[in-house]
Amino acid sequence: MTRPTRRLEVVPLLGFDEAVRRVRAEARALDPVTVPLDEAYGRVLAETVVAPHPVPPFSCSTVDGFAVRADDVRSASPERPVELPVRGEVMAGDRGEVAIGDGEAARIMTGAPVPPGADAIVMLEWTSWDLDRVRVERSVSAGSFIRPRGEDLSAGDRILEPGHRLGPAEQGVLASIGRRKVSVFPPPRVAVLTTGDELLDPEEELVPGKIRDSNRWTLAGQVREAGGVLLDLGAGRDDRSVLRDRVERSRAADVLLTSGGVSVGDRDRMQEVLESVGFRTIFWRVASSPGKPLLFGRLGQTLVFGLPGNPVSSMVAFEAFVRPTLRRLQGDPRPERPRRRAEVMGEITGPANRRHFARVRVTSQAEGLVVREVEPRGSGNLRSMIRANGLAILPEGVERVRSGDEVEVLLLGTPD
Ligand code: AMP
Ligand code: MG
Repeated sequence: MTRPTRRLEVVPLLGFDEAVRRVRAEARALDPVTVPLDEAYGRVLAETVVAPHPVPPFSCSTVDGFAVRADDVRSASPERPVELPVRGEVMAGDRGEVAIGDGEAARIMTGAPVPPGADAIVMLEWTSWDLDRVRVERSVSAGSFIRPRGEDLSAGDRILEPGHRLGPAEQGVLASIGRRKVSVFPPPRVAVLTTGDELLDPEEELVPGKIRDSNRWTLAGQVREAGGVLLDLGAGRDDRSVLRDRVERSRAADVLLTSGGVSVGDRDRMQEVLESVGFRTIFWRVASSPGKPLLFGRLGQTLVFGLPGNPVSSMVAFEAFVRPTLRRLQGDPRPERPRRRAEVMGEITGPANRRHFARVRVTSQAEGLVVREVEPRGSGNLRSMIRANGLAILPEGVERVRSGDEVEVLLLGTPD
């Protein structure tokens, strides 16, 4: 009698670049929404913004001093000041009811509208004055210390185009033209589900055989950092009906991230569970290191990434595939982390024929960026990610780089 033998049958690894292409093909910007200005920070603009009026809306003084006609003070000097009667004063916020005529002046403050009749401002420091007379000690040319109407923006100027990310300056400019609402791409809603019979919450007591669920927390942070809105589905046991219930709760999300259960273990059931509720697999298993068992596909409108359970693999697969996707859904025209060339210190090794991402510490030196691998290397060692501020990329076919070699590095943070 022969004993039954089992043989693992798995699909071949998909090329890394092809996997990126397939993910990219599914990631289109979400439908724009109109939001109040105070909710627009960090969002990507979905409309062209045109200035409805000039900024500043009127010509104003850039200094505290006296509004004059340049012609009247042409001969002024410290030795031979020109004395002018003061017709009144204009404060910032005044409507501009004061006007001056030939041979007259008006007291004016920074930001106040230049009174009709005046064509220059003399700084306070170049004058002496009392209540109704000013002695001007220097000449000024027409236009001096006047910020002309429309200097910053003219009516009809196209200020911002779709695809522009709104930061502090953009918010200020939008406010300066009186915009209270703006059309932007919304943040993607990202459901996160971790799986594994061994997982405990931080507050649970550590018992033999169990570990604490860290991916739920790293993924939550990564989602937030990428600009997504988190929908926490908690940790599910490796049980088909439990997982199916959790997955069903992700229907309203734009993206579902699952963690664990996508490898070839007996309880790796994620793909099967997902497919039982209508998931369409686009690929499973990529020539990536770490992150090989990555599963990707669609569940209705929801993009699904089945991330590997190993904490570092999960984080790296997120960086390689999920983060750029979340940025694309937000309309970001530059969804990728910056990439730089860097010199290797020490040695970095990776597997043959897979794209390898090595956790590295990136430092900025006079000659350029230098990277050194962060230890310990195993993909369960999450602590290494605290030190890592970059991922050095070893392309397929490169198994080893040494001191002095150049690599491409994905910057996760600012180099030292
Ligand atoms: P899996 O992908 O489910 O086979 O898990 C691979 C490894 O990652 C195992 O050692 C798991 O115990 C571990 N792991 C899975 N999920 C998590 C998690 N959420 N937090 C920390 N470790 C995990
Ligand atoms: Mg598992």
